[in-house]
Amino acid sequence: MTSPSNNDSSVARIAEVLLPLPLPEAFDYSAPEDMGLTVGDLVAVPLGPRTLRGVVLGLREGRGGNRPLKAVEARLDEPGLPARTLEFIQWAARYSVDSPGAALAMTLRGLNAPRPRPERRLVATGKAPTRATVERSRVIAAATQPRSRTELAHLAAVSDGVIKALLEQGVLESLKVERPSPFQPPDLSCPGAELNPSQAAAAEALCAVVRADHFEAVLLDGVTGSGKTEVYLEAAAAALQADDLAQVLVLLPEIALTQAVIDRFTTRFGTAPAEWHSIVPPPRRRETWEAVASGAARIVVGARSALFLPFPHLKLLIVDEEHDGSYKQEEGFIYQARDLAVARAKIEGCTVILASATPSLESLWNAQSGRYRWLRLGDRHGAAVMPDIGLIDMREAPPQPGQWLSPRLTAAVAETLARGEQALLFLNRRGYAPLVLCKACGERLKSPDSDSWLVEHRYSGRLVCHLTGFSMAKPAACPHCGARDSLISIGPGVERVEEEAQLRFPQARLAVFSSDTIADANAGRAMIASMERGEFDIMIATQAAAKGHNFPHLTLVGVVDGDLGLRGGDLRAAERTYQLLTQVSGRAGRHLHAGRALIQTWTPDHPVMKALAAGDRDGFLAVELAERQAVRLPPFGRLAAVILSSPDSTRLQEFAREFAAAAPNGAGVSVYGPADAPLALVRGFRRKRFLVQSDKAVDLSSFLAAWRARVRVPGQIRLTVDMDPYSFL
Ligand code: ADP
Repeated sequence: MTSPSNNDSSVARIAEVLLPLPLPEAFDYSAPEDMGLTVGDLVAVPLGPRTLRGVVLGLREGRGGNRPLKAVEARLDEPGLPARTLEFIQWAARYSVDSPGAALAMTLRGLNAPRPRPERRLVATGKAPTRATVERSRVIAAATQPRSRTELAHLAAVSDGVIKALLEQGVLESLKVERPSPFQPPDLSCPGAELNPSQAAAAEALCAVVRADHFEAVLLDGVTGSGKTEVYLEAAAAALQADDLAQVLVLLPEIALTQAVIDRFTTRFGTAPAEWHSIVPPPRRRETWEAVASGAARIVVGARSALFLPFPHLKLLIVDEEHDGSYKQEEGFIYQARDLAVARAKIEGCTVILASATPSLESLWNAQSGRYRWLRLGDRHGAAVMPDIGLIDMREAPPQPGQWLSPRLTAAVAETLARGEQALLFLNRRGYAPLVLCKACGERLKSPDSDSWLVEHRYSGRLVCHLTGFSMAKPAACPHCGARDSLISIGPGVERVEEEAQLRFPQARLAVFSSDTIADANAGRAMIASMERGEFDIMIATQAAAKGHNFPHLTLVGVVDGDLGLRGGDLRAAERTYQLLTQVSGRAGRHLHAGRALIQTWTPDHPVMKALAAGDRDGFLAVELAERQAVRLPPFGRLAAVILSSPDSTRLQEFAREFAAAAPNGAGVSVYGPADAPLALVRGFRRKRFLVQSDKAVDLSSFLAAWRARVRVPGQIRLTVDMDPYSFL
């Protein structure tokens, strides 16, 4: 595509510049000879009245069409993007049926932050102050060696005003100091853990794969606590040892988890790895981006978006808790980081390790069919044994009406507390009650602009839409019929379970761990640390606390509603429930004597419940795989969703019909829809969905790209493609 308008017609060299915008392709600009541009360079280019950052995707000789081209304004003072990163960006965009600029925006995001300001130190120049005071003399005495401004004020016990005056008089001068880089090379002489035989065998196999220095995907499969982290640390060591430039990326699903893993990397390599996630302050993020691009950051531990960083020498990629649903980004550029990690490893020609105690069906199938190398770890490390999982049949001994903890679970909590140990009550539902109903007229309180029920939150006294964040104070009267004091709370959320636990165990120290009680990731880490130290007796938690943590004093996990995830019945409901309940049960008994998990269920005969109770993962997975195979669902077929949304329901209806009619005829592809989405109204936008299913051999991305190219999407309509959807709402 030609860049708009003109100013220099005598160019011979054209730079194809990709901008981080949702545009279909790169724009041509003239490349000034003296800039010496090469592919991958980051440049500033004009677009309309703006100057934007972009990347040079290609260079060619030519005249650029009828109109003279605008020129590249500058080459930026940043490391360029490596060729393989560019290839990955374009691959990811094509796979996700999105524009390459949208994928590039993921890579360049880290550059939007300012660089950290250089540190300064103050030092005495030898000049005398205009007027000597005791305070000023103290400052001068303390400033014989360079000190930070706050340190100096503190040492001399003076206010900042005194220091300011001395700086103005030239008695003190301010020097820029070079900070040591926060990204130090790893110390490869630090010892690793002494591995047990099963771990040692897995580590040896992994290290051999890493040293072979080509693409290979490995599934590291071992129960919670079997030592997968110890094993992949050895693989990281092998990668770093084999090549002085090698870089290693570890993806983790939860920020709260990163601290523990970071500490283990720090111990193993004598220096902290670079972190990449939402609580890294922006200037540090900028610095990290540059250190990754220059190769100085050798180990990066990050959230899913770290996958888009510009590594020049990526040699090992690790996706921990690979089954975790949060690897799927559902908004903006839609992608599944685990799948893209495998694609990136292929492009980089390096090893990718997918680690989990409950691997996704996709990865298991790839392992079973030989596409991935399958390394299995034996039991828990050392004396720790797997928790005993029991079902509580709620039909036999239900709780009192309005209560949620059965007599059996309550008794188990009491025993645990009596032994001085900790219990975790798990309920994957925020707030106090998921539904508020008027007992006079039967009205269920809904969000005004969305199709979702309002969730009651008692801490804040508000009714909240978990979809959009809309909230309102709980009204005194029903907004529908006006009856007073008629609103009742239906069902439990974690706040309600806390209320019940408080009533039953008034002496116990309780903590609720959910996104409402944790202001930010630091608060989350602090609560996890308190739990580890045994400062709570009972933690009531949503899934944020289910993953990865080691709570040494925890010996009982009670699942308040085991059936919760099975309702709604999407493709992965059973798989996800199995994974989540296994993970949460796995928090128990990691250090002390055997722990136990008790799952309250109304459907003890459901295959998921039976498999959990019997510890029969393989049996459950075999049945689940057979069911998917019978109906060609992933991993045996491909699936994509197309979501159309608009504030104008008539236009939406018309366009949905037009779009349906434009569907190409693809062999082995079935298109279902349009249907009203289960969430038919979100933030005032009406939503319709198509589901597209195909054989595994079909290039579904190309099919969808061709389909979309057949229509012109009107301005009021948003069309989103979700390859391999995880949400069907
Ligand atoms: P996973 O990642 O499989 O859940 P971890 O690697 O976190 O397991 O190990 C669980 C616990 O056991 C951790 O506290 C870890 O430090 C400890 N552990 C595992 N393997 C060893 C080992 N070989 N030597 C010492 N401690 C180990």
